[in-house]
Amino acid sequence: MPQKYLIETYGCQMNVHDSERMAGLLEQAGFEAVTDPVDADIIVVNTCSVREHAEDKLYSRLGELRQVGLQRGSQPVVAVTGCVAQQLGDELFRRSSLVDVVVGTQSLKQLPGLVAQKLSAADGPADISLVDVSPHDDVSFPLGIARRRDSLKAYVNIIEGCNDCCAFCIVPYTRGRERMRALSEILAEVREAAENGHSEVHLLGQIVNHYQAPDDPGCDFAALLERVHEVPGIQRIRFASPHPRHVSHRLIHALRDLPKVCKHLHLPVQSGSTPVLARMRRRYTRERYLDLVAELRSEVEGIQLSTDVIVGFPGETTEDFEQTLSLAEAVRYHGMFSFKYSPRPATLAFKRMPDDVREGEKTRRIVELQALQKAIQLELHQELVGRAQEVFVDSRSKRRDHELSGRTSGNTVVNIPGSPDLFGRIVTVRIVGAGPNSVRGELMVA
Ligand code: SF4
Repeated sequence: MPQKYLIETYGCQMNVHDSERMAGLLEQAGFEAVTDPVDADIIVVNTCSVREHAEDKLYSRLGELRQVGLQRGSQPVVAVTGCVAQQLGDELFRRSSLVDVVVGTQSLKQLPGLVAQKLSAADGPADISLVDVSPHDDVSFPLGIARRRDSLKAYVNIIEGCNDCCAFCIVPYTRGRERMRALSEILAEVREAAENGHSEVHLLGQIVNHYQAPDDPGCDFAALLERVHEVPGIQRIRFASPHPRHVSHRLIHALRDLPKVCKHLHLPVQSGSTPVLARMRRRYTRERYLDLVAELRSEVEGIQLSTDVIVGFPGETTEDFEQTLSLAEAVRYHGMFSFKYSPRPATLAFKRMPDDVREGEKTRRIVELQALQKAIQLELHQELVGRAQEVFVDSRSKRRDHELSGRTSGNTVVNIPGSPDLFGRIVTVRIVGAGPNSVRGELMVA
């Protein structure tokens, strides 16, 4: 009887894709997927450590899994993977007796073997604990293994790790230094995904626009977009995340000239204040960022921007924060992920910059920023009312049963009445209603 596994995922798109890969590896090793923790012999918790709160989620989940064990009468094997695993390694065994296996972000391929060792040692000494958090330069991954969660969209890694070391960011310490994936392997995975009905591809990396093909010196990120654009069966191309300081004219022209490349750019700014950006080690100024936004808008018709912002970074004054507000007003983003600064171990800020903005003040700032952003999003969505939009129908509406949902090229969520046979198709919709997080449309042309 095959052993049953369940993977729980926290964090970013790259973690979601790592879970898809681990699912494939476990199934290739003979394990079978289940959806209820009570039925699982192995539970993999794929963790995120980008903020303290994210790390705390692991410990509360481990507490809940202890109850699951009591409920089912035997403790499942618990494997912790992802960024907290990489950050803490075998320290996790001391932090929780529930953890049996620890697998780092660069050791996914070792998971089935370590789990099998633990299972086969069930009759042996109870304290066997297995860990692999070693760095691996090899970013290749066997084709056709990933168990994709979405039937229409496919995540494809192009770069792993990051060399930029922004002062607040733990990623370089949990995902390692930058390693580029071979162009041939990326294209093979995109073709395989398209052949299996995944007509929207998301290219993933910490700084995607830093891509340089190790197997083709002439292929930078713009050239990669051109190559992916040629793959039959691909309708839309998205990517995350670019870094503002690496946005080249070639990339801007690719966004403008390649119809399948979505007219949406997630351009993390982090702060609107040049002194804060300097302390964050972002290596661009407020002025340079705004010039880039102006160039993107003049070159790429209808481009929609979204961003990431941190409030309460060490030393951020009220004036600095005002700069962030005024930049959000100037750019008018269609989307924003905003966070209160959270000191992360090993980072430059953690080591050298006291977390001197009071928690209450961080909360006041993020509430003000989110209120501003919500108002801007509503206005931008109201401007779409009455206009026609091309929408890729990719799911059921979260709002109403009989409704479908999809996204414009600009990444705006559109809810439309319609039948499931519209799934995976790009339809023309007239926008008839607007809210802060989505708009409603009526089908014009299927
Ligand atoms: S670019 Fe900066 S924020 Fe982004 S992953 Fe690298 S270190 Fe982190």
